[in-house]
Amino acid sequence: MKTILFHGPSGCGKDTQVELLENKYNFENIGTGEMFREMYSQGDIKAIKARQYWVKGKFVPNELTYTMLKEWVKQFNQEKNWAFISVVRDPGQIPLFEEVLSDVNRKLDYFVHFTLSEEASIERMSLRWICGNCNATYHEKYKKESVKGFCDKCGTQLMQREDDKPAKIKMRLMEYNKTIEPILAYYRQKGVLIEIDASPSIEDIHKVIVEKLGLSTI
Ligand SMILES: [Zn+2]
Repeated sequence: MKTILFHGPSGCGKDTQVELLENKYNFENIGTGEMFREMYSQGDIKAIKARQYWVKGKFVPNELTYTMLKEWVKQFNQEKNWAFISVVRDPGQIPLFEEVLSDVNRKLDYFVHFTLSEEASIERMSLRWICGNCNATYHEKYKKESVKGFCDKCGTQLMQREDDKPAKIKMRLMEYNKTIEPILAYYRQKGVLIEIDASPSIEDIHKVIVEKLGLSTI
């Protein structure tokens, strides 16, 4: 079974791609966002500590995140492919993530990085809408909600984030490119890096992923 880490700048569509793999190729979708929310709702003491950071929009310290992730991954089906999204955001997290995997006798098969130009990034994000209740994301061009303006999953009215304005997007993309470079270099050197252009349509990108990862239809 494969273990794959997906990463890319905001607006590259990584969540949508992993959802497709989850539905069509029997992937487990393992993310820290869900982990923090779920463990918090179960009253986990570490999650309560972590929440003090993420409610302020700050990153939760590595030690705490990865101690939680080590527990969190144990509930997922070992017989399935595993997809992680953006769990390695700085080089210091690389060994911590490797420890999480080796603890469950897995290793990273691929690091899939979605690349997106500044123009494409801005176009994507200024058309993006988000559900403030369940965090589902929608897009006027690529992923429309079925009832305009309302979340498919929970019915909440959709909103646009302050962050999705062009100047903020540019700044964030520059920052992103700077921090991701050493991480890409590491995985490139290990021979597991796959870079995928994220500017085509959702369906076309999906096809490229299926082909590059050597997934077969079930
Ligand atoms: Zn919702």
